[in-house]
Amino acid sequence: MPASVLVVGGGVAGFAAVRELRRRGYAGELTLVEPQGQPYDRPPLSKEFLTGETDAHRLLFAPPAWFAEHRVRLVARRAERLELDDAAARPRVVLDDGAVLTADAVVLSPGGRPRPLAVPGGDHADVAVLRTRADAERIAARLHLGARVTVIGGGFTGAEVASAARAALAEVTLVSASAAPALTAVGPALAERLHAMHAAHGVDVVEGAVTRIDHHDADAPEADAPHRVHVALVDGTEASVAADLVVAAVGIVPDTALAEAAGLAVDGGILVDEAGRTSHPAVFAAGDAVRRRTAEGAAAAPADPARHWEPAMHGGADVAAALLGEEVPGCGAPWFWSDRHGVHVEGVGSMIPAPGGRIVDRSVRGTVVASFALDAEGRMTGAAAVDDPTAVRAARRIVDRGLLVDPERLADPDVPVRALLRG
Ligand SMILES: Cc1cc2nc3c(=O)[nH]c(=O)nc-3n(C[C@H](O)[C@H](O)[C@H](O)COP(=O)(O)OP(=O)(O)OC[C@H]3O[C@@H](n4cnc5c(N)ncnc54)[C@H](O)[C@@H]3O)c2cc1C
Repeated sequence: MPASVLVVGGGVAGFAAVRELRRRGYAGELTLVEPQGQPYDRPPLSKEFLTGETDAHRLLFAPPAWFAEHRVRLVARRAERLELDDAAARPRVVLDDGAVLTADAVVLSPGGRPRPLAVPGGDHADVAVLRTRADAERIAARLHLGARVTVIGGGFTGAEVASAARAALAEVTLVSASAAPALTAVGPALAERLHAMHAAHGVDVVEGAVTRIDHHDADAPEADAPHRVHVALVDGTEASVAADLVVAAVGIVPDTALAEAAGLAVDGGILVDEAGRTSHPAVFAAGDAVRRRTAEGAAAAPADPARHWEPAMHGGADVAAALLGEEVPGCGAPWFWSDRHGVHVEGVGSMIPAPGGRIVDRSVRGTVVASFALDAEGRMTGAAAVDDPTAVRAARRIVDRGLLVDPERLADPDVPVRALLRG
């Protein structure tokens, strides 16, 4: 067991690692390096925090006193470098003030960064992104009645920002490259239904790819808006949208810089096994920054795994167990949730049907309320539902147990999903 553990990154993965180490009775030295100070949660940033229904204090994972009570040293600095001389030496972490910290084991949980919008003008400082509390504060301050807000990207974050902006009575345009952007997460029918909600809630949905963003000095006489977003529409024509605020939500890239520079195996994420072990015996990793490797050490499919809160949290907790030499609990099929325009979406497992598999939809009065992915043998591999967490909870148990299900009963809204647990 390591006498000291240093965790880099205090998002949900890093905080879960620290909390779980203490919960399991770890009595060694514990340090958490987090440049933003007190660790806080991210999902509310695109929801209640944007709409003003929650505040910064309620985002915190734990009250400030928790860290002293649990003897966790919180270092509000950025880790600049991880130094690993050889497998026998203790890892060293160099901070942005030049200080050097050493520990017997290091956990990397630096999360991800917003994927850059790779078009001319896309990297302008005025193009907002949403990853941190400061990002959310910047966006929230500009959501108000009549503000022209263009959101680029129709995935979960983009959809939530568009929804929050409408709630603030802004004039919202959503640019999406697809008519069903959440397809791989919830299946085609629910993805279409969810995407259609934008138009129903007054969002102007533009289908196409952004080609350029022009930025104007607000006082320039020819400028009708500070920003103009140019879009190549799917029908082959072009459009441009005037905006007071542009938010780019086109995905995230795992933050692998520290790991890569230290010589750890990286391929679309820091490569880890099921316990969060990297290619160096004293370094573990968890959360959005990682990607699972196969037993042979190569990156496992998919190339760009979905990155969600609960798998990140379990990843941190798993690392804690592994550090103590205890059995790693794991979390089964990955689960996520999202909210938009007053509805709650949950999903579990993979909604990309396996070869020979299929998607089964469950509808109520012509509206799809849940979808399930089955493999070629009829085993459920994924599920998603709108406003029905109970169904997803039951589906999760079915997926985790690898149960065969009857597609007809699955499609029948009068059969509770939990009834299928009994076969
Ligand atoms: C706006 C938003 C809304 C979301 N909504 C949902 C949702 O509804 N449902 C869902 O399932 N998932 C949601 N997610 C995804 C979920 O929040 C992430 O999967 C989760 O936060 C990943 O946790 P993490 O600890 O790996 O990374 P992060 O939460 O990104 O934390 C990483 C931390 O590491 C720190 N760090 C980075 N580099 C360094 C360094 N060099 N030195 C020290 N510290 C460093 C950062 O400051 C950061 O605090 C959302 C994400 C965002 C951004």
